Amino acid sequence: MRLLLVEDDHSLAQGLVKALSFESFIVDHVATGREALHVAASDEINIVILDLGLPDMDGLEVLKRLRSHNKQLPVLVLTARVELDDRVAGLDLGADDYLAKPFDMPELLARLRVIERRLGTSFSNDLQIKDVSLNTASHTLTSGNEPLNVSRKEFMVLKALMENAGKIQTREQLETKLYAWGEEVASNAVEVHIHHLRKKLPNQFIKTIRGVGYIVNKS
Ligand code: CA
Repeated sequence: MRLLLVEDDHSLAQGLVKALSFESFIVDHVATGREALHVAASDEINIVILDLGLPDMDGLEVLKRLRSHNKQLPVLVLTARVELDDRVAGLDLGADDYLAKPFDMPELLARLRVIERRLGTSFSNDLQIKDVSLNTASHTLTSGNEPLNVSRKEFMVLKALMENAGKIQTREQLETKLYAWGEEVASNAVEVHIHHLRKKLPNQFIKTIRGVGYIVNKS
């Protein structure tokens, strides 16, 4: 899941990037409305977290412009303004949810999971294929009821493959789910994560489609 965080308060943004990355979200952070509209125009963003008080334009204006070419992209508005007028104005412009500052991280995470479920990428917090189950809320992975220890990136690779079970994921698709913009990516990073995952997972759970990518079959 790739998030665009639009927040001009740098210390808040840094804390959020850290916490959200720890929860296996890929976070692209920008501090202005102009940058937000530019980054949101790419197909790769799944959810936008939008602060309303931005230095260059009002967050509600960003929302309005975003909605003028993308009706579907979920937007979670983050704001210190708790006045009803703003909430109503935001809803009219198509925000999906609100969170008033200050807020607790667990609440933000819970709301993001609701949006994620609505997007249909994971209908529940559990993904189960054959004997392997992965829980996106507790970040646990088990194979035949045995808990498996995997790194955060390994978890993310497997989650992407299991969410798209039955469909081939190319290396490039997996990379966009693993790394934020501008983050250095080793050319063989995905291969390395797959290699480590295979040592822990049942034989042939992740199949290589030579020259194309990887697949986890549904059954
Ligand atoms: Ca602000």
